[in-house]
Amino acid sequence: MGNVRFDAIRRAMEHKPVNVSSPEGRVKDYFARDVFTRDRMKEYISEDVLQQLFDDVDNGRTIHRDIAGTVAIGIRKWAMEHGATHYTHWFQPLTGGTAEKHDAFFTLNRDGQLMEEFSGDSLYQQEPDASSFPSGGIRNTFEARGYSAWDPSSPVFLIGDTLCIPTVFVAYTGEALDYKTPLIRSTAALCHAAREVCQYFDKQVKHVHANLGWEQEYFLVDESLYSARPDLMLTGRTLMGHNSAKSQQLEDHYFGAIPARVLAFMQELEYEALKAGIPVRTRHNEVAPNQFEMAPIFEDVNLANDHNLLVMSIMERVAERHHFRVLLHEKPYAGVNGSGKHCNWSMSTNTGINLLAPGKNPYQNLQFITFLVNVLMAVQRHNGLLKASIVSATNEHRLGANEAPPAIISVFLGKQITAVLDKLEHAKAEEAIIINAKKEMKLGVANIPEILLDNTDRNRTSPFAFTGNRFEFRAVGSSANCGASMLALNAAVAEQLMLFKAEVDRRIEQGEPKERVLFDVIKRYIVECKAIRFDGNGYSDEWKQEAAERGLDCETSVPKIIDSYLSPTSIEMFEKTSVLSEAELQSRCEVKWETYVKKLQIESRVMGDLVVNHVLPAAKRYQTMLLQNVLAVKQVFSEDETASLNEMDYSIIRQIEHHSGAIFSGVERMTEARHRANRMPDERSKALAYHDDVLPLMADIREHADALELIIDDEMWTLPKYRELMFVH
Ligand code: ADP
Ligand code: MG
Repeated sequence: MGNVRFDAIRRAMEHKPVNVSSPEGRVKDYFARDVFTRDRMKEYISEDVLQQLFDDVDNGRTIHRDIAGTVAIGIRKWAMEHGATHYTHWFQPLTGGTAEKHDAFFTLNRDGQLMEEFSGDSLYQQEPDASSFPSGGIRNTFEARGYSAWDPSSPVFLIGDTLCIPTVFVAYTGEALDYKTPLIRSTAALCHAAREVCQYFDKQVKHVHANLGWEQEYFLVDESLYSARPDLMLTGRTLMGHNSAKSQQLEDHYFGAIPARVLAFMQELEYEALKAGIPVRTRHNEVAPNQFEMAPIFEDVNLANDHNLLVMSIMERVAERHHFRVLLHEKPYAGVNGSGKHCNWSMSTNTGINLLAPGKNPYQNLQFITFLVNVLMAVQRHNGLLKASIVSATNEHRLGANEAPPAIISVFLGKQITAVLDKLEHAKAEEAIIINAKKEMKLGVANIPEILLDNTDRNRTSPFAFTGNRFEFRAVGSSANCGASMLALNAAVAEQLMLFKAEVDRRIEQGEPKERVLFDVIKRYIVECKAIRFDGNGYSDEWKQEAAERGLDCETSVPKIIDSYLSPTSIEMFEKTSVLSEAELQSRCEVKWETYVKKLQIESRVMGDLVVNHVLPAAKRYQTMLLQNVLAVKQVFSEDETASLNEMDYSIIRQIEHHSGAIFSGVERMTEARHRANRMPDERSKALAYHDDVLPLMADIREHADALELIIDDEMWTLPKYRELMFVH
């Protein structure tokens, strides 16, 4: 009988780098070739219609249906000229990933003749028969169907023969059933609030953008090894596997030379991404073996998020051509680094100012400090919610582990910014602000006018770090839709800026000078937001204790962390900013708990199958061999001799017996725990039961299975081992 594992290794070794046809010309020749960009639109759509469209999009107004009709004709013409035969509304359901339903560009008229068709209505709105997507009860409550509707702020693009139209996905009554809708609402709220605050400093500011630059980490694994691991195939992670003797200790993979087969994959991935208009620029090896990262230049948050989702699906497609599988799971392997998706977030103005970068003059620096401190206040008030925005059954394995973000949200500022805030805090009001609009504003704080940031001031243990001209939210998981965390952050900051403005305006109306009020409020904020500021080691035990004393959210159980969405502070904030209603929040939580339950249920079942069908049979086979050996030895050697000869055999036989027995009873207990959990009355209690009862039993079983892997004859072990999954390519 052949061993599946050895066959898989052999096939993996045979996989050679795939020849990538080199891209035609230079990047500028093919960048965004598959996108209906604004420039390209000019060739297909009349000028007055476009003017109206751009105007509406740029000012966040609804597009008129007549315009949609004309635009649709232009889009179809362009798409068909480029080989498209189908179109799809491309949306972002709450289950994660993206969804699409393809329709062909033709219909039959009454006489049964074929007509090419793509009307304004099909562009504008569709009713995908998508009743299986979770709505957390919204559609039951309102007895309404889901609709997808065009998001004209993100351009349409081609994937192969299909025209993809980015859309929002909402219930008939308008409740959001996706991530895009509230993300767009949150940027609108943030842009409005930030623009208002900018007026204190610069009346030229008409528009503020929220930016996102994501860094996507992922693992690659050879497809034949992958297909010999049912756990990887069905859950995206290894549910068992002993650590490889050599793993990431030497850190020789980080930034190392990229292996030829992987490089070929990356080249093709970049080519495909660039054609789709995704400005990818960075690629490198990550810390763990076979772990990599890709990052584009930052863009408007809505577009950047679409691009991230698109990249995730392009990756999977390209990987298959190279006989790889992409693992986007946050923790495919225990004991080595997991994968995150750092979200670099900033705000910038139509006047070209990055509101989170120190400026060229004291006025801009006061503006910078204002925005920085308001972000700190927002993150502090909503630290529990921000944590809720990144948790999932998959990211749970990354949180709080030693090489991953801690399960407490805090902000790292670095030495320089901390010094500036300390000085401001202790500056006297009299010496602080004497303003003369024409002359230099004197802040009385010597180094505010020239904050030069040293980019090397980094702290990898911080989940939310200031990195010179942006904040980097590092707790986001690699498989997540970044929209979830970006919308929470946007909304929290929007609310905070509204509070700030209300207070400043009130005091100005009472006759206090503007600069003094700004300075005063900022000074108070600097003191108030101290709890969230932490530059030390986020992984340490002392921090856990200190964070609790500071009143930060220290909950580690994912089902309970999700509760933060429904806290009075969260509900108030989301309603005030019109990002999510209480009903929408409720439904989102239901979906989160339900997804958590389903993921764990699948994992637990796969684990049961694996140990019963792979691990225990191998263990028993090896044990039988040893037992037969003991008997044979007894026949050949004298009793005195056999005592020492059999020592090793006996020891292994007993260990196998011990671990097999523990696995066997563990599986029984796990199955019972699962059945109990499934009988719980609601999704939250189910999720809690899976977390509290099923998860620990899985960890237990794994420990015994991994112990068996170490002692059983290598030839009998059928599941590819960590050293093979991570090092064979
Ligand atoms: P590092 O690994 O050092 O954090 P990378 O170059 O891998 O740096 O990624 C940095 C990411 O941050 C990129 O996506 C980049 O476009 C983005 N970024 C840079 N400046 C800003 C900014 N002002 N706002 C948002 N994102 C930014
Ligand atoms: Mg980074």
